[in-house]
Amino acid sequence: MIIAIDGPAASGKGTLARRLAAHYGLRHLDTGMLYRAVALQAMRAGLPPTDEAAIAAAANTLDPALCDDPALREEGVGQAASMVAAMPAVRAALLQVQRDFARRPPGAVLDGRDIGTVVLPDADVKLFVTASAEERARRRHRELMERGEEAGYEAVLADIRRRDERDAARAVAPLRPAADAHLLDTTKLDIDSAFREARWIIDAHLNTGAGRRRE
Ligand code: C5P
Repeated sequence: MIIAIDGPAASGKGTLARRLAAHYGLRHLDTGMLYRAVALQAMRAGLPPTDEAAIAAAANTLDPALCDDPALREEGVGQAASMVAAMPAVRAALLQVQRDFARRPPGAVLDGRDIGTVVLPDADVKLFVTASAEERARRRHRELMERGEEAGYEAVLADIRRRDERDAARAVAPLRPAADAHLLDTTKLDIDSAFREARWIIDAHLNTGAGRRRE
């Protein structure tokens, strides 16, 4: 089974994807981490932020150790990731890695921005996870405070809005729900309730027999 989960920054899709993968015994890939790793590798190599060819070359030779680097979670790296993610050559370089990961048995949960629309258009189940920008900013702000990082709520909200805008407006693989995605608005849901709703959607899919298509 392949589950595609898309949504904007801090919508809760990452936590949801991890929990669903554990629940259904599937592998999990946080695809945002790949774009963050490319951005970090490019920053550390001192590449000019507009040099698409050089940044795509970095994406083709991504150091796997970078994927565990704590710096990946930093807000500046998230912003840089959304800039490199707007480059078609970078997206092309990362496409096959994601598809190969998904297709290895027993299947996988991938979360990102274009999983249901571009990377895995034939995924068994597609979820599009959203929440209001204010609620997402509150969550991200709380997370940063818990990690001991200084950040004002208004600045976090502005960052989220900037990133949403860049992700939705880009010409290649913009953030948008696939036509056959189930929408899950988590503005008023805690993670347990969101997890329950997502399971309900996936189990309904499995029970219809459509889930046996790939077995
Ligand atoms: O999800 P996360 O915040 O870690 O993603 C960082 C950035 O990577 C996003 O703002 C987005 O621009 C980009 N991204 C993407 N496609 C994906 C996953 C992430 O464009 N599938």
